[in-house]
Amino acid sequence: MKKLFLALLAIFIFSTAMAQDIYIHAGKLVDTKNGKVLNDKTIIVSGDKIKSVEDGFMDPASEEDSLIDLKDKTVLPGLADMHVHIESESNPSEYLQRFTNNEADNAFNSVGFSEKTLMAGFTTVRDLGGTGINIALRDAINKGKVDGPRIFTAGKIISTTGGHGDPTNGMNDEMIGNPGPKEGVVNSVEDARKAVRQRYKNGADLIKITATGGVLSVAKSGSNPQFFKEEIEEIVRTAKDYGFHVAAHAHGDEGMQRAVRAGVKTIEHGTLMSEETMELMKEFEAYLVPTITAGKEVTQNAEIEGYYPELVVPKAKNIGPKIQNTFAKAYKKGVPILFGTDAGVFKHGENAREFAYMVEAGMPEIEAIQSATITPAKILKKESEMGQINPGFFADIIAVDEDPTQNIETLKKVRFVMKEGKIYKSE
Ligand SMILES: [Zn+2]
Repeated sequence: MKKLFLALLAIFIFSTAMAQDIYIHAGKLVDTKNGKVLNDKTIIVSGDKIKSVEDGFMDPASEEDSLIDLKDKTVLPGLADMHVHIESESNPSEYLQRFTNNEADNAFNSVGFSEKTLMAGFTTVRDLGGTGINIALRDAINKGKVDGPRIFTAGKIISTTGGHGDPTNGMNDEMIGNPGPKEGVVNSVEDARKAVRQRYKNGADLIKITATGGVLSVAKSGSNPQFFKEEIEEIVRTAKDYGFHVAAHAHGDEGMQRAVRAGVKTIEHGTLMSEETMELMKEFEAYLVPTITAGKEVTQNAEIEGYYPELVVPKAKNIGPKIQNTFAKAYKKGVPILFGTDAGVFKHGENAREFAYMVEAGMPEIEAIQSATITPAKILKKESEMGQINPGFFADIIAVDEDPTQNIETLKKVRFVMKEGKIYKSE
């Protein structure tokens, strides 16, 4: 018996000593919590977590440990984009592909989009609507079958009949059918409740609604309110029971106000936001997710003959160019900001373009970085796991050539990507 115990003890000690830690020498380290850039640090990674952060460059404790030299780089926590559509990517055939692509085609495409997103340094995303592939993709990534960011997904968007997000908009009479709460189309308080519970059943992590018209749907208005206040209130109330927060797409002011008053956590785009709504956002602690990159992209694409359907072009030209200016005003007024790009409306992997647009609009570099690290962690209720390089946090670590608080553009070229202790990119 004693022999067996000693044997087990020996195995235990041996396996503990075998545990390989990764030592990262960081020339500069962005401290997102305190908004500072620190010099000469060693980050020790053990398994999927950060074990410790030490001053100076420490040698690995044992031969089993490995060393990554990022002395000439700036290291920061993995970035989080809180508005992507990971299943799709804009192209001139996108509207046709609704009829020609099978679900499997979209699923395979989404694998490539996930990889690109992760390689761009985004270790977490919030997917704000697709067909439901996003749920399967999240699970596949979590199980290590596919390389991609950690996904928090809304599953299918919740909309109203003919609204931005009604999956049969623009189709002919034969195909248009009568979609309901399951497909994400609601027209009453009861429907609203059912649609939220359906998403819970499907495995969503949060809820996305389209509070107003939108640019890319084949429908006339890009900004009218499309939900009654009671319907949104019911969605928020039901979502709460399942621990879901609610994100609302909104360009028009009236729909935005209804959403904020009903307790929606994030307003996506916020294009025509009035000063009154900005004050309301502060009062209700609702976050603006700017998506400036998407605004720039649709403005540009609208100039290309045939890129968008006829009904979409004037909306893109009108709404697209206003987004950055609204962001500038809202930021100045103190509206809470959460980083989000609407990737999928433009190419996945170009998510970091947003940082430069935010800085251009008047937000200091460090705050833009915080809006993509500690703020997402707060919204996703992962404050002690994500968004910081500190002991106990996920080892989501990226590196760039320059100090991004001095040159924000450097975030567009991420050289090193680690997610949960696994290295995906090292240039
Ligand atoms: Zn979107």
